[in-house]
Amino acid sequence: PAVAHWLFGDQLGPHFIDPARGGPRRDVPLLMIEARGVFRRRRFHRAKAHLILSAMRHRAAELGDRVRYVKADSYREGLEAVGDGPVTVHHPTSHAALGFVRSLPSVRVLPARGFLVTHDAFTSWAAARGTKQLRQEDFYRWVRQAHDLLMEGDRPAGGRWNLDHDNRQPPPRDVTALGVPAPYRPRESAIDEEVRADLDRWSRDGDVRFVGEDAPRAFPATRREALAALHRFADHRLATFGAYEDAILAKDATMSHSLLSSSLNLGLLDPAECVELAETRWRSGDVPLNSAEGFVRQIAGWREFVWHVYWHFGDEYRDRNVLRHHRALPDWFTELSPEGTDANCLSHALDQVRGAGWTHHIPRLMILGSFALQRGWEPRAVTDWFHRSFVDGYDWVMVPNVVGMSQYADGGRMTTKPYTSGGAYIDRMSDYCGPCRYKPSVRVGEDACPFTSGYWNLLHRHRERFEHNARMVQAVRGLDRLRDLDELLAQEAARED
Ligand code: FAD
Ligand code: SF4
Repeated sequence: PAVAHWLFGDQLGPHFIDPARGGPRRDVPLLMIEARGVFRRRRFHRAKAHLILSAMRHRAAELGDRVRYVKADSYREGLEAVGDGPVTVHHPTSHAALGFVRSLPSVRVLPARGFLVTHDAFTSWAAARGTKQLRQEDFYRWVRQAHDLLMEGDRPAGGRWNLDHDNRQPPPRDVTALGVPAPYRPRESAIDEEVRADLDRWSRDGDVRFVGEDAPRAFPATRREALAALHRFADHRLATFGAYEDAILAKDATMSHSLLSSSLNLGLLDPAECVELAETRWRSGDVPLNSAEGFVRQIAGWREFVWHVYWHFGDEYRDRNVLRHHRALPDWFTELSPEGTDANCLSHALDQVRGAGWTHHIPRLMILGSFALQRGWEPRAVTDWFHRSFVDGYDWVMVPNVVGMSQYADGGRMTTKPYTSGGAYIDRMSDYCGPCRYKPSVRVGEDACPFTSGYWNLLHRHRERFEHNARMVQAVRGLDRLRDLDELLAQEAARED
């Protein structure tokens, strides 16, 4: 038997030590390694470093004598604490960590936990698709059937797989907040105080540097807190999740979103319990189908798909850069300084990241990511920025979301077209444009919205590629109707200098 079972910092829930689910026997001691070197390699958001350390230390306190909690500089050094005996570990979540554990003869890797679909099941699904492109929508339908989620016999509940059409409503124009009960927020404990003191000391020592605000911890660090957050969401916020999923209100950053990503990614929640609860609430008539389906799609569709394509595409995927974008991120962006831009939407999104290390998916995709794409910033640097700045950012989830979804750096392996738009989309889906010094409909001159001009500039730069994309060809033809295109291109060139 193993002398220890090693828990990574994102394997903190009960499903990672359950013998009935392939976990270690109950008499096997546990090992956790807090590796300070991880924080030295990247300049993380302070709230993210705090959340990870707090969650690990809370878990160690719960496990008591069963766990050996080692503070070390590296994982290798931490493993020395258990000598040469055999150690088991569940499949880690990054290529680097998997390579490391596989390189150690004393470590045996157990199957991954924390996802609905196993690696083998995904491999069979992908093989059955043959040479066809892997699409999230196909995968999602398969997962719904295979896991009997929101199904009526072999048909999707309500007769349609996809209720996105009902879930793209702009925000209500006459309110500043959606008016749903606030999300769950935890109360800090003595462990958080200790973490804060350690992070202060590391900063003073000068070997670890952070970005972002050191605000009170806003996301769950324990299973109990994560369950409270899940139930608050299901009971009070899920009902309105669907309709306004893509909308943004300046004064209501969270709207009806679940804020569960960090808890899922730390392993505090199992995705199965989240989607099953949403289905239960729909079956009991408490929430409409478009909300339950929208939420199930995010977790059973997007989250699972992203996890599997991360492994399927291999480690080289992170270096994809088909659009040959090489510009560096400006300092105001990397420093999370909202003052660095007078684009109201971008400034608000950066401010949210600075404060909480979190925004919902539309500011990530259609403001922060879209801006980076239009400006031609290097995808790998953009991935690194997202990874460091967001509380829920881990390699497996950032690489496909940024390289594939947001920067189109893979040339369309994950999406059928680039996710980017002019200011008109942001104007429709948010209340940012009214007070902005730019105008979403203007593309040239003093009032030119940087998203509108940036959009046309991007289409022009990549005209040849996008002309061959059936979903982009209409948009590209729009370039021919722009009588001020030369002026616009000159303006964009000047802006980028
Ligand atoms: P909700 O809107 O309530 O959605 C429910 C859950 O669905 C989320 O908690 C999350 O677990 C899951 N989910 C939805 N979409 C995705 C997706 N594309 N990939 C993975 N899970 C998804 N999500 C992360 O968890 N970590 C990241 O590092 C991350 N980086 C992103 C970067 C970009 C550029 C984009 C466009 C999206 C990224 N996402 C990431 C996905 C998504 O934006 C966040 O999961 C979501 O905004 C978190 O807020 P929430 O928990 O309130 O989500
Ligand atoms: Fe953003 Fe343009 Fe709207 Fe200003 S006008 S908020 S820059 S989309």
